[in-house]
Amino acid sequence: MRLLLVPAFGPGLGSGHLRRCLAVARRWNGEAALLLEHCRERCGRGARELLEPLAGGEPLPEVLPDYDPGEPWDLVLLDGFRTPASALAPFAGKPVIGLDEGGPARRFLPYLIDTPLGPNGAHPPNLASSAFLELPARRTGWDYPFRRILLSFGGEDSADLSGRLLERLLGTGLFAPGQLTVVQGPYFRRGQWPEGVTVLRNPHLRSILAGYDLVFTLFGLTALEARAAGVPVISFHPTRYHRRLARNEGLPEIGVRRPNLGRLRRLLADRAVFERLLESGAATAGARPAATEARPGEQELERLPPAELLPALLPAGSVACPVCGRSPNPAVARFARRSYLRCRSCRMLYLADFGAQAVTYGQSYFFEEYRRQYGRTYLEDFDAIREAGRRRLLKLLPLLPRKPGAPRLLDVGCAYGPFLAAARETGLAAEGLEVSAEAARHVREKLGLPCAQGDFLQVPLPVGGYDAVTLWYVLEHFRDAAAALRRVNRLLRPGGVLAFSTPSGSGISACRSLRRFLSASPADHFTIWTPRRTGPLLRRFGFRLERMQITGHHPERFPGRLPAGLLRPASRLLGLGDTFEAYAVKIGEAV
Ligand SMILES: [Zn+2]
Repeated sequence: MRLLLVPAFGPGLGSGHLRRCLAVARRWNGEAALLLEHCRERCGRGARELLEPLAGGEPLPEVLPDYDPGEPWDLVLLDGFRTPASALAPFAGKPVIGLDEGGPARRFLPYLIDTPLGPNGAHPPNLASSAFLELPARRTGWDYPFRRILLSFGGEDSADLSGRLLERLLGTGLFAPGQLTVVQGPYFRRGQWPEGVTVLRNPHLRSILAGYDLVFTLFGLTALEARAAGVPVISFHPTRYHRRLARNEGLPEIGVRRPNLGRLRRLLADRAVFERLLESGAATAGARPAATEARPGEQELERLPPAELLPALLPAGSVACPVCGRSPNPAVARFARRSYLRCRSCRMLYLADFGAQAVTYGQSYFFEEYRRQYGRTYLEDFDAIREAGRRRLLKLLPLLPRKPGAPRLLDVGCAYGPFLAAARETGLAAEGLEVSAEAARHVREKLGLPCAQGDFLQVPLPVGGYDAVTLWYVLEHFRDAAAALRRVNRLLRPGGVLAFSTPSGSGISACRSLRRFLSASPADHFTIWTPRRTGPLLRRFGFRLERMQITGHHPERFPGRLPAGLLRPASRLLGLGDTFEAYAVKIGEAV
């Protein structure tokens, strides 16, 4: 598997993202490369010079100076900080996994992982995981008042927080020089430190933290490591954004760029503040509660180390819009193995699945899985579905082109043939196509109707050979809905009819809670259609929508306690059914 790592680096971005990407690359079983564009222009150092101080003597991974969109990367890991949405454009259509992203790109990332360092904002991630952090072991007990103090402000400290804070700590006599140790990172500009202060150059921080009573640092990995190690932390920040993240995490803080000494004195005098902090640190050493509902296998994802987690998230298809190909698109809802994205161009709501298992349409699909969803098997439902088919034919038949002979109809995904049975009653030359060999055989042998077995996108079928093509609850199952609709267009004669039914993305269930609706949406429903958007979408494929029927009215799914006698007409009037049927006529070629 080929992994491209894209760390944030450059002035003000510290060394944490680089370190984290180096650690992932080191443990990766496959090809991994770091993308460092315009390295010298951005930070005044070549890539090797930048990475070597962080690699601890380990060999460096491959480093790319620019991005080649033609390279077949299986996954892109974006360890950004506050990435602009425009930075995602070069990776359009690629499965990009964002790590702790706090910028405008966050909404547009196909998949998001937050560690406890993440922005903890209003847009929850697909997965909360601590596995990208290697946290130190927790020590027992701590010393108060504080005697041994460590200052560590990252690899770069472009705001010179170390120098400013040291000056104030010594100037006010809060601590003596001999109590203070400062970490000089590999990219520090400052090289001179006050007399008597211990200076550590590029230490292995994680292993020495437990030797101190108090750590001054900014919001970031060191703060988290110190807290996990059971060492009290006071945070001091280069930006308001860092301070906001620190406050969200409940870290005591003393300001942005200018230390607030009044607050520092009050903090140092209040032992209870640090007791609370360390208690919550014990909890944060694990992951933040996941924003996702647990499904089998999803709990384990949170605990997998990156080298196992990332391959488990490999998407089966593209993350671009399956109708118009646009990417990137914003996410509407995120789950551990799925993101629902809304196309900015054609507005289609679609599923991007990550490491989901492909659904197979064998016997178990029509029996066990159907029963789980609808409470009975497909064959037990046969008569009811045939009856629905009769009603659908009343809408379809008047649209058929007038010509001699029996109109020829293809029912794609005909299952055990209830619609075909109804179509035969009306004198249509009806035939089926079904992926399940078991169901196709049933249609041929039990119903005596023609039925081919196979994938609609691959089975040979006569071009311009049909007067009608129907897909009842089938269109949403195509990963590539555009390819399916283009094929329907080619198979139909001019004036031929496309008819389909599908769940509604604007019915009462979706309106009450889109997130809940999507969390219950089957893993093999790749496109979520709405009645309002169907006409414009079908036009792209050479169809004119002639008739729309909103179905699946469920008064019991409405909130409140109004009588069903009122709710059913209201549901019909407002088009709030959970499914709908569309009837369209071929007026041209697909664009
Ligand atoms: Zn689109």
